[in-house]
Amino acid sequence: MSDYRNDKSTCTFYSKIGACRHGEKCSRAHIKPISSETLLLANLYQNPKLNKNDAEELSAKQIQESFDHFYKDIFLKFASLGHVEALVVCENENNHLNGNVYVKFRSKDAAYNACMELNQSWFGGRPVHSEFSPVESFHEANCRAHETDTCTRGDHCNFMHIRNPNSHLRGILFRAQEKSRIVKALQELKKDEEKEKESAKVEQEQQQQQQSQEQQPPMSSLDTVPTTTSAAAVAALFSK
Ligand SMILES: [Zn+2]
Ligand SMILES: [Zn+2]
Repeated sequence: MSDYRNDKSTCTFYSKIGACRHGEKCSRAHIKPISSETLLLANLYQNPKLNKNDAEELSAKQIQESFDHFYKDIFLKFASLGHVEALVVCENENNHLNGNVYVKFRSKDAAYNACMELNQSWFGGRPVHSEFSPVESFHEANCRAHETDTCTRGDHCNFMHIRNPNSHLRGILFRAQEKSRIVKALQELKKDEEKEKESAKVEQEQQQQQQSQEQQPPMSSLDTVPTTTSAAAVAALFSK
């Protein structure tokens, strides 16, 4: 991770925050990862503050409620695709960070599968675009001043201004995911046990079959019966 800091040709904003205000025109390189645990779904959250009419009508409480609803929807979608380690939504108002959603999965494999699935999905009437993001640490990408509402760069800050769901909801979602993971693991365990029992039963049946075959006279002794009979018949013919 520390290499890019010394490499002047690499854009540290893109590497750390996953988005840079210069976009494709940036003079420094934006190195897109070929795989990652983190996905970026750019502009997925429709910030009501950017739609002035909505902002005038909606109270802070309503904005939070609608955000919580959005957060829950996307969390459930992501959790159905893989284990979610972190979910971050930006409320910056600049184009490159506006409404960006970052989801970090437990493994690169899970993120890869989720990315394929998400790129075929629609959300809120719009097609979803998902891509691998170089962001590894939200701690580094986050604007700490925003947490205390003291960011002097305002809503056009180039660090993440993270909007959080209410902590109760967040706790419920992450705990439910953990619980369903345990339930799934137990179901798998049960399936494995049943498979083992089934194969033990088949093995036992095969053994029993083998044993009963061994108790019967062998095929060769059956073959000798007619021979003996015919030999006896021949002997009987000769005795006449
Ligand atoms: Zn850049
Ligand atoms: Zn800031």
